[in-house]
This record gives sequence, structure tokens and C-alpha cells, in this order.
Amino acid sequence: MSPAERPGGTADAGATPAGPVRTCLGCRARDSQGALVRLAWDGHRLLVSRTAAGRGAWVHPRPDCLRAASHKGVLARAFRTAVPAGALAGSALGHLLAGGDVTQDGQEGVR
Ligand SMILES: [Zn+2]
Repeated sequence: MSPAERPGGTADAGATPAGPVRTCLGCRARDSQGALVRLAWDGHRLLVSRTAAGRGAWVHPRPDCLRAASHKGVLARAFRTAVPAGALAGSALGHLLAGGDVTQDGQEGVR
């Protein structure tokens, strides 16, 4: 048995999330920053990064939330600019939507 594959153990024990709280772009729920991934729009591409410059938006790394967040209108409102649909396909968000792992700069294994 691998110790890395312990089931459960997530933060739904009713504890107040520590640190900053953000609103998920997908489900609109508030959650601790650590439970969300940050999307950033650099003017050309959609990035998944906590450190990228520019306006950021936060979303749960879950298919439902990612799908909801990937709607053009949602992104346009979050980034206050039109995000072309084509920018999504090859982006980190597209990768997440396709079931890819979430790997943020300097931070791996976000769950
Ligand atoms: Zn969510």
C-alpha cells in the first residue's frame, strides 16, 4: 500500500479554512485559496499559475467547476476582457478540462 494514496483526509471536517478565501469561478462557492487553482489571462493565453501577472481568477480543479468556468462569458467577466474560445483549447484550462493533472508553478500535487 502506498502512503501517498490515503483516501479521504480532505478538509471537510468543518474546520475554518486557513488563509485567504477565494470564490470559485465555476460553482461560486467560497473556499480556501489552497483548494483552488488560479487562472490568469496574460492577454494571449490562459495560464494556471499563482504567480503570473495580471488579473487572476480562482476555480476548483474539478471537472464541473472547470467546465462552468470555461464559459466565455464567465471568463470575460472574470478577466474583464473577451477571451476567445480558441484560447481555451490549447490552454492550461483546456488541459485541466481534458483530465490533465493540475501542476502549478512551484507547486505540485494540488488536490
Ligand atoms: Zn467550484
